[in-house]
Amino acid sequence: MDELDLLKTIHPIWITRATQSLAHGSGLRDNLRPQFERFFELLEQAVETGDPSWLDSILQIWATSLTESELENSWSNLTVFLRDLLTLTFEICRETLPEGQALSLIGVLLPIFAHASQRIAQYEMESKISYISNQLAQVRQTLERLDRSKSDFIAVAAHELKTPLTLIEGYAAILRETMEAQKIATPASIELLTGISSGTHRLHDIINDMIDVSMIDNDLLSLSFQPVWLNRLFKILENEARPAINERRQKLEIRNFPGCNEMTFADPERLLQAFRNLLSNAVKYTPDGGNIRIDGRKLPGFIEITFQDSGIGIAPEDQALIFEKFGRLGNTALHSSSKIKFKGGGPGLGLHIAKGIIEAHGGTIWVESAGYDESQCPGSTFHVFLPIRTDPPNDPSARLFAPLTQTTHSS
Ligand code: ADP
Repeated sequence: MDELDLLKTIHPIWITRATQSLAHGSGLRDNLRPQFERFFELLEQAVETGDPSWLDSILQIWATSLTESELENSWSNLTVFLRDLLTLTFEICRETLPEGQALSLIGVLLPIFAHASQRIAQYEMESKISYISNQLAQVRQTLERLDRSKSDFIAVAAHELKTPLTLIEGYAAILRETMEAQKIATPASIELLTGISSGTHRLHDIINDMIDVSMIDNDLLSLSFQPVWLNRLFKILENEARPAINERRQKLEIRNFPGCNEMTFADPERLLQAFRNLLSNAVKYTPDGGNIRIDGRKLPGFIEITFQDSGIGIAPEDQALIFEKFGRLGNTALHSSSKIKFKGGGPGLGLHIAKGIIEAHGGTIWVESAGYDESQCPGSTFHVFLPIRTDPPNDPSARLFAPLTQTTHSS
């Protein structure tokens, strides 16, 4: 009798024992019986031809029909299953065949099972990898959906908040005018009305920031390119920041660096907004009496602007985080609605907006700081890289200024 005949003799008992001992639960037993029949058939083919790859097809089917919980297991279910099948086969050989025949059949089956074991580990790993990739893709889609709905929510909420706020502002102004006209305004009532007005202004700023964030996140920030001279923007910035700088007894130096008086196409409103955020952070995170310097240099095709302060600095691990939406650091108890108070953290949108604006111009922004230290104050330097545009970009409104580029190039 050759090995194929020996294998055929153990067929009925192998099917019965495999079904009874390896399939748990009656439903599964019915289900597995045809699988074991097929496995045995292919095992016979492998023995007959000497080619173990006959088993590959059924092993692949087993690997692709693993359940979700089996795929989530870190151990290999199928390698264990195949090992049990091998042990059972050897037991049956020893119990039902004379010793010599059992040994010769085991000798033939061993390399076939070794090949099968290698294959099944590979198929199972492939199934697990594809399952995990699918899971990851789903998680990514969910996160993208959540991020989009968060931005949509911010946009809708911001617009809904703006309307009643404008009404409050309008009514407060009418009330003040009426009281002043009727000469019934007292210092106390004027103080209250001033409070309402500055509160609504601050709310307006926050709502506008929220709208800007949702526009940046949805790639909807559209720039209106016009001729811009950086030194003029710095002048406006200086005038705006002067009261805060004086109140905090800080020193603001704006250097007349090469390139700052040359014209470039940019969105002046948006650039000013980005620079304003950087300067107001420099004021907030620098102690009283500290120094702030705006400097820069001209590089081929780019202009670099630096906002340097002698403030508390930023830890290296936080230097990327601060540009994220709501990427404010530190103690939330120090949250302050004041724009100038030392360490008075805001909602954490300023740098995210500045980054969005600079990137929309085709530039980049990053920070350098030796670390965070409130006693030594190592300071921070924010770098802004802006492309120099001597021609209006592909924006129809910018063409209106085309003649300017030929006549004026520096100011
Ligand atoms: P916030 O409204 O909190 O100021 P920003 O987006 O402007 O939000 O800044 C995010 C965080 O980055 C701040 O909470 C602060 O911790 C840190 N940060 C920003 N600018 C500076 C700076 N010049 N020096 C030290 N820390 C800074």
